[in-house]
Amino acid sequence: MTGPKPLSNILAITPYKGGQKLDHGWKLSSNENPLGCSDKAVEALTKAAQHLELYPDGSAFALRQAIGAKFDINPDCIVCGAGSDEIFQLLGRAYLQPGDEVLQSAHGFLVYSLVAQQAGAKLVSAPEKDLRTDVDAMLERVTDKTKIVFLANPNNPTGSYIPYSEVKRLHAGLREDILLVLDGAYAEYVKQDDYDDGMEMARDYSNVLVTRTFSKIHGLAGLRLGWAYGPENIIDAVHRVRGPFNVTSVAQAACLAALNDDAFVAKSVEHNNSELDRLKPALEELGFRVFPSVANFLLIDFGSEKRAEEADIFLRSKGIVIRDMRAYGLPHCMRLSIGTKEANDDVLTAFNDFSKAS
Ligand code: PMP
Repeated sequence: MTGPKPLSNILAITPYKGGQKLDHGWKLSSNENPLGCSDKAVEALTKAAQHLELYPDGSAFALRQAIGAKFDINPDCIVCGAGSDEIFQLLGRAYLQPGDEVLQSAHGFLVYSLVAQQAGAKLVSAPEKDLRTDVDAMLERVTDKTKIVFLANPNNPTGSYIPYSEVKRLHAGLREDILLVLDGAYAEYVKQDDYDDGMEMARDYSNVLVTRTFSKIHGLAGLRLGWAYGPENIIDAVHRVRGPFNVTSVAQAACLAALNDDAFVAKSVEHNNSELDRLKPALEELGFRVFPSVANFLLIDFGSEKRAEEADIFLRSKGIVIRDMRAYGLPHCMRLSIGTKEANDDVLTAFNDFSKAS
């Protein structure tokens, strides 16, 4: 018995593998917030959990109003999803058919390739310069078949970003019927003056969508809530293809509370950026090659796949799990999420021991 056969493009997909869990020690493999989440979010979630018999508001009205007020954007031009991952998939459902092309920078976020494969579309990857998106290389690869361009800014797993002027240049080189998705999953961490998450472009153009998430700075990855802001035509398309109740009531309530907990957000940014500034030079001093990052993780180049694997095994033996980068075509690299101060101290000790032992 063979049973029903999935489509061939579905069988070609390698299922997404998340960062491995640990019973004890430090899990630094999924870019989660080491400070947890806002107490106010937990409080709101607990309250909302009193009425689990009720369906959620499918349109996430109250949360969209709150996001609109916070970012000074029109709440009717926002749509929520079960993580920004779901929003990417809904975009694939609304805009892609077999034979279309999805364009990304070489080391783009893995879910973009899943979106393309699920639709039977072709993923086109533009080479990068020093692990940074190269706008010229992106534009050179636009064809008649290009339908969606994904740009994570900052990008995961490289940690790099491109200035707003470059984002605008990318947009200016695209036809109006090509959807440009500006994925700002790590936007809150970036302090550079020439950075912008592109909300203004999403307001002004019919083909630009900005996505954001509660998974990173708000520490609510477990609740699965992301959102997108853009022109009515795109928001309308996403509403047509989303599930009627795609975001849970408890997630909506908790995220609304988290959104307004400015103190928690500020503390998370401050912790991340000071630890990033501490860890990067300290790892470099130990002889490791570390790429510049404006996000909540560091990409480390071990020079070879073998040494990256040895480091992985060594770190695990010390109770530290970081992410291998084979799926991103960077088998010689590993990605380390910024942890608590205590975790990062242990990381530095373990890297020191590893460099001495090997
Ligand atoms: N975009 C980027 C660049 C990411 O790294 C991630 C999470 N790893 C996401 C989007 C997805 O975030 P979520 O689905 O949790 O909102």
